[in-house]
Amino acid sequence: MLLETLTIGMLGTNCYILASQPGSQALVIDPAGEIKRIISCLERSSLSCAAILCTHGHSDHVAGAGPLSDAVQAPVYIHEADAPALRSARTRVLGLVGGAASGKPESICNLIDAQDIAVGELSLKVLHTPGHTIGSVSFYTPGYLFCGDLIFQGSIGRTDLKGGSLQALLRSVKEKAWSLPDDTRIMPGHGPATTIAVEKRKNPFLAGLD
Ligand SMILES: [Zn+2]
Ligand SMILES: [Zn+2]
Repeated sequence: MLLETLTIGMLGTNCYILASQPGSQALVIDPAGEIKRIISCLERSSLSCAAILCTHGHSDHVAGAGPLSDAVQAPVYIHEADAPALRSARTRVLGLVGGAASGKPESICNLIDAQDIAVGELSLKVLHTPGHTIGSVSFYTPGYLFCGDLIFQGSIGRTDLKGGSLQALLRSVKEKAWSLPDDTRIMPGHGPATTIAVEKRKNPFLAGLD
């Protein structure tokens, strides 16, 4: 699997580009902005973006979703509980650059728990993992969990923002993340990658969840 990490914006949001091999179709997870960088990264490996996936609707993760969708003509996927945030982030970004909404219908698709997103030889399983927001999801493919702001190395996502719930977050981790193989690499929304095994052992916020 081809996996690129671009760290974007003031909050250091991780945008991930996944493909089975150079020249194939790709998935972009959390296009946080700087879409020129994302597009050059796609072009470097001759990738065509087939879908844009959002782990949740916070603008530091989705600010580039609308513009990237327009530029590469790919649909944006997000859980419906977080879709309103995506629309307002898009409006804000368009306002900043002085553009106008294009008039054509937004290509926004709903992500549903246990759904498979398949592109070429690549397949990701959608896991609804609420807690940081109501519509937070994680994407799993054997070996990797792209979890947005659910788990960070040694920490967890904030639960004091709109729609946040610590109880829901802990349940998501216990029921969804912890049931994956221990050697699964956690690819978080911010900061370095880690593994399920390491976080089970060392993450002070998740101690005793097993
Ligand atoms: Zn967030
Ligand atoms: Zn974030």
